[in-house]
Order: sequence, then C-alpha cells, then structure tokens
Amino acid sequence: MVTDGERKILRVNQAFTSITGYGPEEAIGQLPSLLSSGHHDAAFYKAMWENIDVHGYWAGEIWNRRKNGEIYPQRLSVTSVKGPDGEISHYVASFADITISTAANDEIKYLAFYDPLTQLPNRRLLMDRLSMVLAARTRGGRYSLLMFIDLDNFKTLNDTLGHNMGDLLLQQVARRLEKCLRQSDTVARLGGDEFVVLVNELSTDETDAVRQSETLCAKILETINLPFMLGEHCFHSAASIGATLFHDRSPRQLEELLKQADIAMYQAKHGGGNSSRFFDQGMHDTAMVRARLKYRLRQALDLEQFELFYQVQVGQDGRPCGAEALLRWRQEDGSFLSPAEFIPLAEETGFILPLGQWVLKQACIQLRDWEQDPLTRELVLAINVSARQFHQADFGEQVCNTLAEHGITPTRLKLELTESVLLDHVEHAIANMQALRQSGVSFSLDDFGTGFSSLQYLKRLPLSQLKIDQSFVRELVEDANDQAIVLTIISMARSLGLDVIAEGVETEEQRLMLTRLGCLHYQGYLFGRPVGATEFRRMLAVFAI
Ligand code: C2E
Ligand code: CA
Ligand code: CA
Repeated sequence: MVTDGERKILRVNQAFTSITGYGPEEAIGQLPSLLSSGHHDAAFYKAMWENIDVHGYWAGEIWNRRKNGEIYPQRLSVTSVKGPDGEISHYVASFADITISTAANDEIKYLAFYDPLTQLPNRRLLMDRLSMVLAARTRGGRYSLLMFIDLDNFKTLNDTLGHNMGDLLLQQVARRLEKCLRQSDTVARLGGDEFVVLVNELSTDETDAVRQSETLCAKILETINLPFMLGEHCFHSAASIGATLFHDRSPRQLEELLKQADIAMYQAKHGGGNSSRFFDQGMHDTAMVRARLKYRLRQALDLEQFELFYQVQVGQDGRPCGAEALLRWRQEDGSFLSPAEFIPLAEETGFILPLGQWVLKQACIQLRDWEQDPLTRELVLAINVSARQFHQADFGEQVCNTLAEHGITPTRLKLELTESVLLDHVEHAIANMQALRQSGVSFSLDDFGTGFSSLQYLKRLPLSQLKIDQSFVRELVEDANDQAIVLTIISMARSLGLDVIAEGVETEEQRLMLTRLGCLHYQGYLFGRPVGATEFRRMLAVFAI
C-alpha cells in the first residue's frame, strides 16, 4: 500500500485486496484507518506515526479488520519516502497476514497430542483421558485397566537392523494394538518402545474384571508374537505387560497408577519377558526394597562400604597360582551382602561403572602389595567384568591406565567375562579384547557351559582360559552327563589351546574326578573360601608349609 504525504491511499496491490477484502476502487483516496480494528488506542497510532516521521521506519505486529468484519493479526512495516524538498512525499506500507491457518492449527494440536511416528495419542493425551476417567468414577462403578507394554527385544532390532526397521516395527505394533481394543479405549505411545493401554468399562465385579483383563493381555501378547514383516525381514517379537486394575477406591493420582503398571511390567520383564503381570501390594513392597537398595548402593562407595575378598586358585600340584577377586558390600550390621544381589541393580542404574573402576583400582593396589612378598609375588589376580563396563568405548584404556598408574605388569591381571557379555556385540568385544591381550592382560571365560557359544565363535576370541561353571562340578561325581560335558569342555579347550579351571570345587572326590578328566586348575571351598586380604595372606602361609 502506498499513500501520499497526507497518508491518503494512492495504490494497493492484489495481495492487499486478498488480505483486506477491499478492492483498489474502495481503498484509494481513503486513510489507512479504513483498516483499523479498534484493538489499539489513539496513543498507539500516535507513537507509531511519530516513529515513522522521526526515524523513517516502523515495524511491528498489529490487529486490523477485514472488510467482512473479521479481525486478524498482521506483520506490518511502514517506510516514509522524502521528496527533493526534504518533506515526506509518500508512505510505503507492506504487511503479511499472520493468522495461523485452520489447517496449521489442527497440525499444531495434532503434534501436541499425538505421536508423529505411530499416530497414537502421546503421553499428554493419555494423561488427559486418564484424568477424565479418574474424575468420572463413582462408587461401585466399573473397573478400568491400565497396561504398560514394553517390547522385549527392541534394542537388539535397532542395533542389528537399524532404526528404520525399528520405526517400522513400532508402527506395526501400534496398528496391532489398536486392533485388539475397542474405539473407546486408548492406546498411547510414551516414547521408545513403551506403549500404554487404557481400557474403560470393564465389569463392576472384581473377579470378572480380572478375567477380562487377563484375556486382553493374552490377546495382546499373542498378536505381538505373530511375525512382523519389516521390509524383507521377517521379525519375531515379544512384549512384557504390566497391568493394574482400578476403580473408585484406587489411588487418585495418575502418576501412581502409571507407576504401578510400570512396576508390574518390570516384574514381567524380569520373569523372562513375553508375559504379563498384575500389580499387587507385594510387588509394590519388593519395588520399594529395591528402590531403597538402589539408593543405598549409590552412597556405598563414598561410605567405603565395599571390600574385595580373594579366593585362591590352585594348580595340579596343589600350589596357589592365582586368586579371584570377589566384591563384598558391608552392611551397617557388619554382615556382607552377596554381589549376586546388588551387581544386577548396579548394572541397571549404571552404578556398575564407578564400582567396576573401584574394583580395578583396588585389584591393582592389592597386586602392588603382593609384589613385596615372595608368597604372593607370582599370583595372577582375576577380576569380574560386567557387560556395561566392558562395552564402554574406552574400557581398554581405563584398564591400561590403571595398571600403569600403579606400576603393575599387565600379565598379572586376568579379566573374567561371561559368554553373554561377549555375544552382545561380538566384533566390538573382539577388538576390545585384542588390544588388552596385546598389552599382556589375559581373559577367562566365566560360567562356561551355561551359554550358547559355538566353537566357530570361541576360536575368534583371544581367550586364555575357560572356567567350567560350578553347576557342572556340583554333581560331577554322581552324574554321568556332567562328566561328559566337562570332558567335552576340556577337549574343546585343548584343541583351542586354552587353559581350563573348574570353580565351585568343594570335595576331594570332585577334584580327583576333574584331574582324571584333564582339568588341572581348581577353585572352590575345598581350597579356600573368599576372604579379606589379611586373612588371605595368612591362608597362603599355611599353603606354604
Ligand atoms: P562368579 O564369578 O561365578 O563367582 C563365583 C561365586 O561362587 C562367588 O560368589 C563365590 O563366592 C562362589 N563360590 C566360590 N567357591 C565356591 C564353592 O566351592 N561352592 C559354592 N557353592 N560357591 C562357591 P559371590 O562372591 O557371591 O559372587 C557372585 C557373583 O557376583 C560372581 O559370580 C560374579 O558374577 C559377581 N561378582 C562378584 N564380584 C564382582 C565384581 O567385582 N564385579 C562384577 N561385575 N561382578 C562380580
Ligand atoms: Ca567369576
Ligand atoms: Ca563363575
């Protein structure tokens, strides 16, 4: 829009007409106040024109009125043009309609409440609906069901076939879930591979409602078990479902309900997956105990509540050749908590990383100490390394640096890994191991025989030892199957050029049998229990007699 120095409109273009609704014949000769909406007061316009006259320019957002009466926001800029005499001869205004289109509005609303990948309601919409259900509850009314669904092998899929395939799977899971439910139910995706289902209008009778819920859980598990076609790949999936039923006497808090379903889901997952669990109070109590343990675990390092115990390993001649470091957590009452109870928790929370580093450092300090004494100078110390620790990008460096810091010869350190740790990312594991092996650190494959290693794969790993799992040693003397397995492990190790050690050796008969089968290294209560450093030193002195 162009006006003269008196602000009378001289020219407008096509865009002016389509935004304002006024044609040129209606606008020309009028003042721009033709467009005013009445939303801004006189002072506003006064300030605007003053600015234009003094600075030659004004820009901002204002409300104007179209010919049809509709008020709309526009982005406006006005420039003054001076003639040769220095007086303002024209004003040039340009503006854009910044009304958000209805379609764009819908899109924004959609994005706020729906998950773009699966088109399912998102967390926000779910919470919205859940709060409506909670608010509408009446005494003796119908039961509702909240389910937390988590895919069991989603991470593996993402790691092996890539994120695109992961996305495809999520979309197909979403469609299958919808098919299991009625229109009035809600399936939402919370993110990742977590889905939540809200089912209303179950029975008013608790037993019936439980039965209905169980049927639904089974139906969902079944549909997820059917193979998925992801591009050219046929993929088999499974899910863990946590469910919680609620009605008028249940908690009023949404978050509380979600937490209950989450706790139940966790139980289903820990039971091995591909199953569903209902939340109950006992579950809640277990979860509380775990949460408390987690919390205490985090402080235990600072409180110096950890200690390394050492269990002797002996050779065929009965002489100590090494030891395994086993972690202990001292409780306030002086008792020790078994690592079997807290290592899995530490893995889950990531606390295993600082804890693992502490073990490594402590092992180095111990090795340094042992060097001073002829009794212990030759011992090789084995430490247990868990999956998360081992798969850190800089794990090798951490080990080498810690060894160097304490001036320890790398050949004195052995790392115990389990098959599952190595199977996780085979190539990465091999690279990690090779670097360490070159520096002199050796590896023992822990709990051997309980996993699924093939020879093909074993032969690629730079191992130096297989550790026969204690479950084969326990009934070795009576059980011919165990004898056959142990014999197989030993001949396998021989053909791969590896040492063998048996753990959990408790009786002389077991040791004899192992020797006869060809196993020449042993660890177990028969030779010594895991004990603190001082006690360990005393024990070795007895061996020496
Ligand atoms: P593991 O590596 O298989 O350790 C052997 C377990 O068997 C130890 O239990 C040991 O005390 C026990 N044991 C030793 N000899 C005998 C025997 O003759 N008979 C019987 N019945 N048991 C015997 P512990 O110390 O409770 O450790 C349990 C598991 O915790 C270990 O299994 C290991 O996987 C893990 N762990 C221990 N220390 C650490 C650590 O520093 N880091 C990591 N990541 N894991 C550790
Ligand atoms: Ca071990
Ligand atoms: Ca073991």
